[in-house]
Amino acid sequence: MIRYEITRADLEAQIEAESPGWLAKAAKRTAACRKKKAFDGGESIWSDIKPVYMRLQHNKCAYCERKLEGEPYGRVEHDVEHYRPKNGVKAWPDDRIKAERKIDYEFPTGRDWDQGYYLLAFQPTNYITACKSCNTPLKANYFPIAGTRRGPQADDPARLASEHPYLLYPLGNLDDDPEDVLTDDDPEDVLTFDGIVPKPVKRSGDNRRRAVVTIDFFELDTREELLRGRAEAIWALKFALIVAESDLSPTDKTLAERTIARLQSDQRPHTNCVRSFLRIYRQDHPRAEKLFQAAMDYLESLDAPLGTLR
Ligand SMILES: [Zn+2]
Repeated sequence: MIRYEITRADLEAQIEAESPGWLAKAAKRTAACRKKKAFDGGESIWSDIKPVYMRLQHNKCAYCERKLEGEPYGRVEHDVEHYRPKNGVKAWPDDRIKAERKIDYEFPTGRDWDQGYYLLAFQPTNYITACKSCNTPLKANYFPIAGTRRGPQADDPARLASEHPYLLYPLGNLDDDPEDVLTDDDPEDVLTFDGIVPKPVKRSGDNRRRAVVTIDFFELDTREELLRGRAEAIWALKFALIVAESDLSPTDKTLAERTIARLQSDQRPHTNCVRSFLRIYRQDHPRAEKLFQAAMDYLESLDAPLGTLR
């Protein structure tokens, strides 16, 4: 995960440009939810503004950083995801997830909450776009929190900080930065990568727990598609680094430097992983070599040996 910078004013301006009158419609629907004391069950108008989020996130899933297809055909691959569920919330992890993931936390993760966050059903800062794998089987109607109680009902997510959510909200500056972006010890950083494997930035404390839960929740450390994508990104990066540091022609070296810059851009898939690898490469070369080898070994373990391909 990485942060996608946007101010609230800019987000609203882009929403209105995409779907004129959307914010007024959303305010009406929020009023209806407030009156009903529940999600109003009406039309999913958030789909109208899906392209805004797709563009802001460079067509990447907010949670797993996979790159999906963009417009005009990609809309179907992206779901507008309510960060805080608009309907009832189920406690996470349930018994099945605990058994499958071997989860045994010594800290609380929140209870069921039948009313759900109905005042956030039409709140643009409660939306992001996610891939179907992250959204449907995994995110579902779960929202683990460290706080002892959910709520209060509020139409502004900033009023819900006392819940201490575990999952990261990567749009704008409402939440901590998911990524280890600074070289100094930023207390806000949460999630980094050791090669293709996600891990917490911190050794202890709240943000370590946030990383542990986020990794478990979205199964970021075991999904083959994600591990493969990260391994391929590290593979490309390593070869660009070899060329950039070689005695090849200035033209080749420039090409390699452009490749390195491109691979770590926000627009690419698995940016957090690529930037983490680059940081390790610059700080601890032998460690980076081992991680690169592990990434290659992983790719080779997935694919048929080259000699057998026709
Ligand atoms: Zn995803």
